[in-house]
Amino acid sequence: MKRAVLLDRDGVLNALVWYADTEARESPRFPKDLYVFANVPAALRRLHDAGWLLLVVSNQPNIAKGKSTRQELDAVHAELLAQLASHGARLDGAYYCFHHPDFKAPCTCRKPQPGLLLQAAKEHDLDLAQCWMVGDTDTDIAAGHAAGCRTAKVREPRGAARVSTIAADATCADLAQFAERLLSGTLRAG
Ligand SMILES: [Mg+2]
Ligand SMILES: [Zn+2]
Repeated sequence: MKRAVLLDRDGVLNALVWYADTEARESPRFPKDLYVFANVPAALRRLHDAGWLLLVVSNQPNIAKGKSTRQELDAVHAELLAQLASHGARLDGAYYCFHHPDFKAPCTCRKPQPGLLLQAAKEHDLDLAQCWMVGDTDTDIAAGHAAGCRTAKVREPRGAARVSTIAADATCADLAQFAERLLSGTLRAG
């Protein structure tokens, strides 16, 4: 069985974007709005080189909310891959939940449920107990715990300090620090 770093996307790999119509910082809706944090590609390269699979698990409810089309979200994903590739980094897979319970019947994949992580585990033969879930919200940490992963919380750089109600196994400044600590053996679960 394999091990993976399961990555929330928005706030971990790329910045949230301010949109005037919702007066909120949220997921990028268009490729031109996607900004990958400068130290993310190197962090992903290091994790990949150390044998970790890199799998994105991300809620993208803007389709259900009618704010984005599937084509737009596919274009944002393609832009993410292109920006990573231009810096020599790549993902091994990405799993998105496009649902939202206010607009459709509840699904089993929207974090904090573990559905995306379980799907990733099935397709990549993961030992979830050996995997890390990295996210910037309690929702990510709850999903990681529900799937039986170890969890690390990172701080979305420009986000307001969020009140944590769920304890992660580790807290890191960002993905680069997570990678540094994981690969230097200074991360301990629990
Ligand atoms: Mg996030
Ligand atoms: Zn879903």
